[in-house]
Amino acid sequence: MAYRYWCGECGFKTPWLTEPQGRQAQIDHYTRNHPDTPPGGDVERGHRPSTAAAFTCAGLIGAAVLLVLLAAACHP
Ligand SMILES: [Zn+2]
Repeated sequence: MAYRYWCGECGFKTPWLTEPQGRQAQIDHYTRNHPDTPPGGDVERGHRPSTAAAFTCAGLIGAAVLLVLLAAACHP
């Protein structure tokens, strides 16, 4: 599971990180950009984009295998 922290003051989002890394990245952002504002905003939880890409790749391979099987079934 990866976490992305959203700034409540501007459009800043941290990269996908672990929870402690993301929290620290957001605190660093507030220290730099909003020094008078306590850290806030939202936390987005999800999978890393690379994981989603891997699932897409597996889906394409599955579709290719299915097409080969269908082609084989049509030519006895
Ligand atoms: Zn900000």
